[in-house]
Amino acid sequence: MEKVKLLYEGKAKRVYSTDSEDQFVIEFKDTATAFDGQKKAEIPGKGEANCLISSKIFELLTIRGIKNHYIRRLSEREMLVRSLKIFPIEVIIRNRVAGSMAKRLGLEEGKMLERPVVEFCYKSDELHDPMINEDHILALGLATESELSTIKEMALKTNEILIEFFRQCNLDLIDMKFEFGKDSQGEVYLADEISPDTCRLWELGTTTSWDKDRFRRDLGGVEEAYKEVKERVMSTPIESKARILIRLKPGILDAQGSVILNALRSLGFTEVLEVRTGKLLELKLDRKIDEPERIERMCKELLANPVMENYQWEWEE
Ligand code: 5GP
Repeated sequence: MEKVKLLYEGKAKRVYSTDSEDQFVIEFKDTATAFDGQKKAEIPGKGEANCLISSKIFELLTIRGIKNHYIRRLSEREMLVRSLKIFPIEVIIRNRVAGSMAKRLGLEEGKMLERPVVEFCYKSDELHDPMINEDHILALGLATESELSTIKEMALKTNEILIEFFRQCNLDLIDMKFEFGKDSQGEVYLADEISPDTCRLWELGTTTSWDKDRFRRDLGGVEEAYKEVKERVMSTPIESKARILIRLKPGILDAQGSVILNALRSLGFTEVLEVRTGKLLELKLDRKIDEPERIERMCKELLANPVMENYQWEWEE
């Protein structure tokens, strides 16, 4: 897929048109900015880390049924996406108090929220992305009522999926910013990127930041943080396969086995003394299940007949 024309250059990404009208290429830059561009630096490896992290997360979200703009990764820092008209809204979801919420409400950072908080901001650098509410969005025609409800539902569902995924990376998902867009048919998709630039990620059980706050707050180790999150995300599986073998218990008459035995012997394979049959099931799962008891339950409650059959299972590497 060829990049045709630079359509837009943002603070951290470039967007190009392609020879296909409904596809764009996003190129991730190493540039980091904060405070509406007042603070700026080059962070070697950031573009590549954010591209790899975002690609893997979009693949996970596709498996879990969240429509998103990602088509495929083209290189270490480029991804092919659906061309969308982006809603001029930032959607922020918070699981713990941090950043602007802590400042605005005089709360301590790290306090767990009783339920996720959804905030909306109007995308405008000149106005410093002011917070708006759902009425503003509807009254200003920034999205329709049904688009807004879809956006909210998708954002909350994505949050649930990502909390669980990042937990497997030993990271606590504190808050995040999403952008959404719609295609020419009016279908709503999750867009932009999902990376340490757009999410707050703390080491699980601590307040250690592994995200852009290291840059915003001069905490040091910025390059290392992007690399660390990249390595954890890339080594965490988003799907897995379990192989289950079910066989009749020893001593239980295997009628199918006897038929096969007789057929083999009548063909002259007289060295065969016994045939025991069984069945092999391969389950594809949307994650590697933390509690293997779930597979055990599947076997006991449905897949194997506990009176007559034994089962064995393993993860397929
Ligand atoms: P806060 O409002 O506390 O500054 O940010 C909340 C969350 O949204 C953080 O994870 C932050 O990274 C993300 N976020 C908010 N606004 C922006 C923005 O303009 N650009 C980026 N990259 N992330 C943002």
